[in-house]
Amino acid sequence: MSFPRLSGQSSPFPSSQKGIVAMALYKYSQFLMPSAEEGFDQLLPPKMAAQKSGIYRCVSWGQEIATAAGNILPPYNHHPHRPSIGRIQWQLVVSASDVP
Ligand SMILES: [Zn+2]
Repeated sequence: MSFPRLSGQSSPFPSSQKGIVAMALYKYSQFLMPSAEEGFDQLLPPKMAAQKSGIYRCVSWGQEIATAAGNILPPYNHHPHRPSIGRIQWQLVVSASDVP
């Protein structure tokens, strides 16, 4: 199955209704590392099973959720969208390590 793709460089810069940039946060960079894995480029529709455990964000609004691999991503009505910003699509932004 193929999905629409979005590179990190061209992703819309999200902001909340308060004008604050909405992005995943971390404190200790030694626990994160860059990855070129293709799973980060896929835009998944609502109600699709997450392929990786981690943090996903709605590409057009910046809403973030955390989920486990195999869980169903939130539905079309998870959060309100103005028609002008398009539909909900989930993109993996931080993938949890699956090393035991
Ligand atoms: Zn959204």
